[in-house]
Amino acid sequence: MSILVITEQTGGRLHPMSLETLAAGQQLGRQLGLPVRTCVFGKSVAPLAGELAAYRLDGVVALEHDLLESYTADAATAALEWLVRESNASYVLLPHTYQVRDFAPRLATRFGRVLLSDVIGWSKDGEGIVFGRQLFQGKLNAAYRAEGGPVFVSLQAGAFRADTLEPGGAPVETLAPPMEGVSIRQQPEPPFRESARAVDLSAADLIVAVGRGIKEEGNIPLAQELADVLGAELAASRPICDNGWLPMERQVGSSGQTVSPKVYLAVGISGAIQHQVVMKGSKCVVAINKDANAPIFEIADYGIVGDLFEVLPALTDAVKKAKG
Ligand SMILES: Cc1cc2nc3c(=O)[nH]c(=O)nc-3n(C[C@H](O)[C@H](O)[C@H](O)COP(=O)(O)OP(=O)(O)OC[C@H]3O[C@@H](n4cnc5c(N)ncnc54)[C@H](O)[C@@H]3O)c2cc1C
Repeated sequence: MSILVITEQTGGRLHPMSLETLAAGQQLGRQLGLPVRTCVFGKSVAPLAGELAAYRLDGVVALEHDLLESYTADAATAALEWLVRESNASYVLLPHTYQVRDFAPRLATRFGRVLLSDVIGWSKDGEGIVFGRQLFQGKLNAAYRAEGGPVFVSLQAGAFRADTLEPGGAPVETLAPPMEGVSIRQQPEPPFRESARAVDLSAADLIVAVGRGIKEEGNIPLAQELADVLGAELAASRPICDNGWLPMERQVGSSGQTVSPKVYLAVGISGAIQHQVVMKGSKCVVAINKDANAPIFEIADYGIVGDLFEVLPALTDAVKKAKG
């Protein structure tokens, strides 16, 4: 019985969620009294295994093969299936990244299991571990008890903190999975290249952040106008940037920028964990949302339950008047 944490790397750099998952692995190991091992897979990943070996773990595996040089679901599944069997793991923890979503359900299926995806935590009772997931934008919490093993769990971004990782030391071994007969049906494309960041939201004192409540791109100027009169930076939740209504560099969240301004005004943002986790350090959070039960109100210092299309213009006018 052991816990295996599968990390993710691209181009020789660990995905930040890998360390969050490792922190979760340490916690689960402590609670269950089980050894915790981690693995990094790819080609020439020994330096990354060395980085992981700086934490309190029972072992680090550098899983290396030519077929793992560029990620494909077929190669990752085959290599990790071998490793999970070799390590006789009872719990397999993964970060809930896009890559993990691509291969982990298939990996779990190889063991006749399902993936418990996007898990935010767990509790322990007399019968074992109960994993928690959120449904309907965080409005409902669902509890899942997994029977038998191995139990495959992917962890939501921001659910565990990398800065809680206990330092220590771990032995590293390099293993080559047997890949004979594995057919790779995917054709990897060149990696997506991010543009250089022009806006540093982390340095902003005032932020007006806009979410899906704004409805359409043509309404963004309503928030921009308020930001302008306040001298604030305009930021957004992920769906706004995914839609191309604002550039990616203005995204706040676990896959965007981390911010801690003096005032964070969240407009039409529900407050999903991936958003909250990087902005809840703001000194003052003001939320405008028409849903009184939106999770953003749980961390807001001031809340306005109302229609942003009425509140935003009124606020902008009030600030203009106050400035004379
Ligand atoms: C791996 C991963 C990474 C992620 N990274 C990020 C990230 O970096 N940043 C991020 O933001 N999200 C991220 N997400 C997405 C996140 O889970 C949420 O889906 C997202 O934050 C929701 O954005 P939203 O609040 O704008 O939209 P919604 O959740 O749709 O909320 C819209 C809100 O607007 C309110 N509203 C609607 N109309 C009005 C109105 N007229 N007046 C006032 N209020 C109104 C609604 O009540 C609702 O609360 C990530 C998800 C995953 C899985």
